[in-house]
Order: sequence, then C-alpha cells, then structure tokens
Amino acid sequence: MSTALSIRNLSVYYDRFRALFDVDIEVGDAQIVAIIGANGAGKSSLLKAIVGQVPRVEGDMRFGDISLIGRPTPDIVAAGVALVPEGRRLFSSLTVEENLDIGWQIGRRGSTQLGDIYRYFPVLAEKRHQRAGELSGGQQQMVALGRALLANPRLLLCDEISLGLAPVIIDSLYAILPEICAKGTAILVVEQDISRSLSIADRFYCLLEGRVSLSGRPGEVSRAAIEASYFGGD
Ligand code: ATP
Repeated sequence: MSTALSIRNLSVYYDRFRALFDVDIEVGDAQIVAIIGANGAGKSSLLKAIVGQVPRVEGDMRFGDISLIGRPTPDIVAAGVALVPEGRRLFSSLTVEENLDIGWQIGRRGSTQLGDIYRYFPVLAEKRHQRAGELSGGQQQMVALGRALLANPRLLLCDEISLGLAPVIIDSLYAILPEICAKGTAILVVEQDISRSLSIADRFYCLLEGRVSLSGRPGEVSRAAIEASYFGGD
C-alpha cells in the first residue's frame, strides 16, 4: 500500500499554546482513517495544519512526494487535498450550484462532476437554484461535502460532518464515503462520535490533549480500550 499522507512529529502552536505534541499519522492511498477525540483534543488543529491554516507547525508532513510544511493553502488544494470544514463555511447568499462550482474552480480536473454530486444527493439537484442559506443543516452539509468532492481530491479531510445532524442525514453522508474511497481518494474523518467514524474506518487514531493516545484497526481494539484512551484517566 502506498501512502497518501505521512505525518511525523507534528506539533501545532497558537502563539505559546501547544495544541498538538509530536503526532505521527499515516493514511494509505485507498484508506479511510478516523481521528477520534473529545472536545479540544486537537482534531481540527490537525486538519487545519494539513491544509496550511495554523500559525505555526513543526515536524514533517508529506502528501505523496510533496512536503506540506510551509506550503500555502491554494498550493495544497491544487495538489489534491480538500477539506470539508467544521461548520460548513458555505456562501449563504450564493445558490447550491454556485457553491458547488467553487470546488470545481479551485480543485483539480478529474472524474467527479456536478452530476455525480446530484446522484449522491438528489435533494441538491432539486434545490440547485436555491440559496445555500435557505437549506436545512443536513442539506448544507451535503453541499459542503459535494464542493470538496468536486475539487477531485486525492485526500479528503472531513471535520465533524455529523455534528448536530439527524441520524438519517448522517447515514446518507457516511454512505458515500466508502464509494469515494473505492474510486481512489484517501479519506481522513474527524469525529467526536466514535461509533460512526469507526464503522467505516480501516484504521483509527485517538487524540487526547494533543497527543495520540491509541491507534489501531477498529475491529482489533476493544471498546473499553478506545474509551479509556478517548476520555483519559486510569
Ligand atoms: P472540537 O471537537 O471542539 O472542535 P478539537 O479536537 O477539534 O475540538 P481543536 O479545535 O483542534 O480541538 O483545539 C485544540 C486546542 O487548541 C484547544 O485547547 C483549543 O482551545 C486550542 N485552539 C484551537 N484553535 C485555537 C486558536 N485559533 N487560538 C488559540 N487556541 C486555539
């Protein structure tokens, strides 16, 4: 298996506050990897570091044969990394289709096109001319995921895509990730919800207060061990 993303000794700082401590993470080319951890564990900081959106990083991050350290965000996106950010960050006064088109404009050309997004999420085809701000939270999350997919990433980063959504909507979002992965996109899924992300992950890493407290394959680690490394304590 070749490696899409290789992170070694990664530390992230916000001024003098250190959010990540010497984190090591590997994502294989055809893998879904879950990052789990409680509030404030450093999950978003990890994703933001990958796309060049934290003030200071130390360590080594390689995407294929490209070093990501110190590289500007547009170059990282152009190289094939797309982020579905926490909170979606849509342009609420633009239509569904205009929001989706942004992914197409800033990303790489590839096999995923607008019609694929409407096939994954038929409700977006119905609402394609509606303003994004008028959609439900779940529909907005579909637009955010669709926008990232239209950049035809080799590595897709999903930050808490299930947050605040109804289980049926979360199911529809999660259902497409294995298909995306099978088409050749490695996926890094960040979630507080352990069960949901472990259900689709080939491998997981648990973060606790900025450090990797446990990693492994979901089926090979007990639930008790995962919970202990998630919550900390003895
Ligand atoms: P959540 O699930 O709440 O999003 P998280 O695991 O994603 O949490 P981060 O958002 O990465 O955690 O935060 C890790 C730590 O870094 C927290 O202590 C947080 O307060 C701190 N932090 C995050 N962003 C900043 C920032 N811009 N400036 C200062 N500290 C920050």
